[in-house]
Amino acid sequence: MFTNKAEFKDAFINKLQTMCGKGLDEAGIHDCYIGLASLVRDCISRNWIQTNKQYRDQGEKQVYYFSIEFLLGKLLDCHLIHTGLRQICREGLHELGFDLEEVLAEEPDAGLGNGGLGRLAACFLDSMAALSLPGHGCGIRYRYGLFEQKIVNHHQVELPDHWLRDGYIWEFRKADKAVEVRFGGTVHCCKQGNGKLAFSQEDYESIKAVPYDIPVIGYGNNTVNTLRLWNAEPLQVDFDLSSFNHGDYLKAVQYKQAVERICKILYPDDSFYEGRLLRLKQQYFFVSAGLQSILRRFKRRKISIHALPSKVAVHINDTHPALAVPELMRLLLDEEGLGWEAAWQITTETISYTNHTIMPEALEKWPVEMFRTLLPRIYMIVEEINRRFCEHVWNRYADWDKVREMSIILDEQVHMARLAVVGSYSVNGVAQIHSDILRKHVMGSFYNFSPHKFNNKTNGITHRRWLLKANPELADLISQAISPGWIANPQELSNLMRYAADSGFQDQVAEIKRTKKNSLAHFITGKYGIKINLDSIFDIQIKRIHSYKRQILNALHIMDFYHRLKQDPDLPITPRTFIFAGKAAPGYFIAKQTIKLINRLSELINGDKTIRDKLKVVFLENYSVSLGELLFPAADVSEQISTASKEASGTGNMKFMMNGAVTVGTLDGANVEIRAAVGDDNIVIFGLRAEQVLDYYRYGGYNAWDIYNSDGRVKRVLEQLVDGFFSGEKEEFRLLYDYLLLNNDEFFVLKDFSDYAAAHVRLESKYNDQREWWKMSIANIAHSGKFSSDRTISEYAQGIWSIKPVIIP
Ligand SMILES: *Cc1c(COP(=O)(O)O)cnc(C)c1O
Repeated sequence: MFTNKAEFKDAFINKLQTMCGKGLDEAGIHDCYIGLASLVRDCISRNWIQTNKQYRDQGEKQVYYFSIEFLLGKLLDCHLIHTGLRQICREGLHELGFDLEEVLAEEPDAGLGNGGLGRLAACFLDSMAALSLPGHGCGIRYRYGLFEQKIVNHHQVELPDHWLRDGYIWEFRKADKAVEVRFGGTVHCCKQGNGKLAFSQEDYESIKAVPYDIPVIGYGNNTVNTLRLWNAEPLQVDFDLSSFNHGDYLKAVQYKQAVERICKILYPDDSFYEGRLLRLKQQYFFVSAGLQSILRRFKRRKISIHALPSKVAVHINDTHPALAVPELMRLLLDEEGLGWEAAWQITTETISYTNHTIMPEALEKWPVEMFRTLLPRIYMIVEEINRRFCEHVWNRYADWDKVREMSIILDEQVHMARLAVVGSYSVNGVAQIHSDILRKHVMGSFYNFSPHKFNNKTNGITHRRWLLKANPELADLISQAISPGWIANPQELSNLMRYAADSGFQDQVAEIKRTKKNSLAHFITGKYGIKINLDSIFDIQIKRIHSYKRQILNALHIMDFYHRLKQDPDLPITPRTFIFAGKAAPGYFIAKQTIKLINRLSELINGDKTIRDKLKVVFLENYSVSLGELLFPAADVSEQISTASKEASGTGNMKFMMNGAVTVGTLDGANVEIRAAVGDDNIVIFGLRAEQVLDYYRYGGYNAWDIYNSDGRVKRVLEQLVDGFFSGEKEEFRLLYDYLLLNNDEFFVLKDFSDYAAAHVRLESKYNDQREWWKMSIANIAHSGKFSSDRTISEYAQGIWSIKPVIIP
């Protein structure tokens, strides 16, 4: 261990020898990464062991956060910040001839998630550790994370993300903690001596689940929690290889491959349900393994199984882990020998559920046939849960329509959201408006049936990664102004309001923004050769490409903006740089066409000399956590323009706000609460309201052609999609044209167009009053404390999990 620079240098040189087998003069940059990371690993290992021991000895309640995605990003820099070792390491490395930033860049970006849902899980782990809360993650160790995106001839191309190629320094394989997971076969039932029924599964396929543990390091405390990711491996090779039987050998290899397929790849669909067998297998695999290991640890304590809910909370992040409900029932019934009532009480007092979407295309519904074949015993249990639940509903309402509306199994499908609601004691949405819509519309009948379950927990982001790490210049300025207390207590950021109108402070904030814009501009010019005007407004939309997020609205507006500039090159406008990044699900045609449109637009506009540096459009490849860390601090304007009611919360909006960008957005998701926090003057709101959108869906009354016929600007940009405007190829964007007009524009892009364009005019005039602008910017930073995930996690800890901090000595 080291406490100063000299000790660090000795320890580091020693690590290069023992880990890489190299002397200082032979070591390359990757060796440096390995050396530094393993030093940090050594430093936290005592605390990791100590944390586990303390949790064991103290016996306080712990929470397990089950999520099919954890979008971690790079970890080393955060670890250096959290342990307070960053400065020593940076200077020590420098003296040895290495640059810390270059060393940090060597780490693979762990992309085990699609977007917001997976990133939320990662922010939550960070906050639990920082708040000394006993909370752990449970997920899957995918061999391939989310695909790497390249743009080739304006199209998205997907490449495999082999992130484990060079090994992963933060994972610890725990072979001795493996458990067995069973699929398929048949269920047999026999009467035991005591008259009880016993169920056993036969002719099943067995798989070994091996945990890989990743430490989750607290900030400025000694807590080190655990993210446990499960890997699927063959249980044993059941074949007699010594017999040299050729067929058996092939079978053995095939079996191994089939098993390993389970953890091979993360499904690249975001807010989209795919009814694939392998996906269901992934879900059961990690849920069963996770619950088994929790129960095994619990039982070592030799206390009654009935005490489980007072010692363990299991939280399911969306419905992907909803099989936790029947799986916990199975373990309690079949393994622990409990009766149904007792098992049900324990299960429904242990599990809580977060809903992430109201969009029908994202709701999981598994075909009964597939479900029953893969998970015969689990299916029996779901049937029994449903039978009893429907009986309650019938007893309450005596109404078959109600029973149909709420039945977990309906029309040969298992409705996972209903299973999750019925099987948990808490159901939360992720922003106030989203929770309201859940209660009032989507889950109205469940809310009326058990209103006490429903609550809201507005999402948050970890200010440690998204401000302290991503924007150290701004973080330092804030600490100088209001003292560093905000790092432990982000609500203290509100003290910045004292300086909002201080021109000296405004200038400092503006200068930091310019520094970050400059870094981004360098990156863009270096990678794409596009020259960027630092005096332009950096207007950024980065998120998954999805119809409801309406990147098309942004693109159509840029087309209109470009047209106005072409008409009058001397138009007095403030220069803009529109920046996009985001991945489309590989099978999502509209989203991929949208990417193509943006890239065509970028080529056309950036190549047009007549408009000079007044307008640029950039599409950055491969949006990821690391790219986000470069982008959020450089933004002047944050685009949060989803169709109202569709974005459950959004968290990108919070990252922008915390870095001083001003939001242009709809009253959707957490935008509503951002507006309430900063006040109407410090945000630009436009477009339909959620209730208006929901009314259109219910009662009809929207006709996209009406807008097309009445708004000349809309008509012109739509015609440009199909008249060869971009490349001479006439029908190039026919698909998008038809989607917006013939399919009647399901996300109200045309309806909101003119209001969106007007919002941009308001935004520009605000920007042109620079004193006002920086006041707005500072107000956004100052009110972002509410959106720290520390606040969110405190609310979960108190309101849902009933867990308390455990201080690690
Ligand atoms: C924050 C984040 C998201 C979520 O962004 P939204 O704008 O809320 O959809 C997605 N991907 C990455 C890499 C992120 O960091």
